[in-house]
Amino acid sequence: MELLKQLYKIVSKSGMEDRIKSFVLDRLGDVPLTIATDEIGNLFITKGTADEYPCVAAHLDEIHSPCEREIVVEGDNVFAVDRLWNRVGCGADDKNGLWVILHLLHSEPVLKAALFVQEERSGDMAGCRGARACDLSFFNDVAYILECDRKGSSDVVSIGKGDTVLCPPDFIPEDILHKYGYEMVRGGKTDVVELKMRGLEIPVCNISCGYYNAHKNSEYTRFSELTRCLAFVKEVMRSKEDLGK
Ligand SMILES: [Zn+2]
Repeated sequence: MELLKQLYKIVSKSGMEDRIKSFVLDRLGDVPLTIATDEIGNLFITKGTADEYPCVAAHLDEIHSPCEREIVVEGDNVFAVDRLWNRVGCGADDKNGLWVILHLLHSEPVLKAALFVQEERSGDMAGCRGARACDLSFFNDVAYILECDRKGSSDVVSIGKGDTVLCPPDFIPEDILHKYGYEMVRGGKTDVVELKMRGLEIPVCNISCGYYNAHKNSEYTRFSELTRCLAFVKEVMRSKEDLGK
């Protein structure tokens, strides 16, 4: 919980991701990693060596404008207020994805992670600018990408905006979906959808990570659903390892 609160304290409006990047890199200081960046500012992280990597993705930016925010925990719910105790967005979209990835980069021996900047629309600029600008060669030795940037608790988006096919319907074994209460659904746009639109061939999907009312002052997270997302992602990765044996 403490890590999530620290992430929510940092307001990272699109194009202003330097502080959140420093925080993420600082939290990974004790993990041996290879870290690369590109011109627009995306972070590409590699842990361990493998012929083919599992990969996770999230975006560093959020829609909300800078303000000083306090993080409140009420039972299972986590949200933010300003100094006058008015509700403000907490940036759970997509700090929850970053939270999952920080855990995985500590626990998993072999993993790639793509952290994108500028996923949110800004003024009249379209979203997914980081994913649109990135060099796809980072994914040449990647087997699949799991992005955690979907509202709610039960969706695995397998068909994205514009009928973009992200992964086959049986990409995640039925028993694992059932165990964690997830189902394959159609959804909107995020970084991995942009990568598929650009022609990336490997399977990708976008997974619910426990946030609600994204882009609104009433944004909040159900913490138990975020931790369930982390357990689900781990089990999906285990199932893919078994396939490789
Ligand atoms: Zn998002």
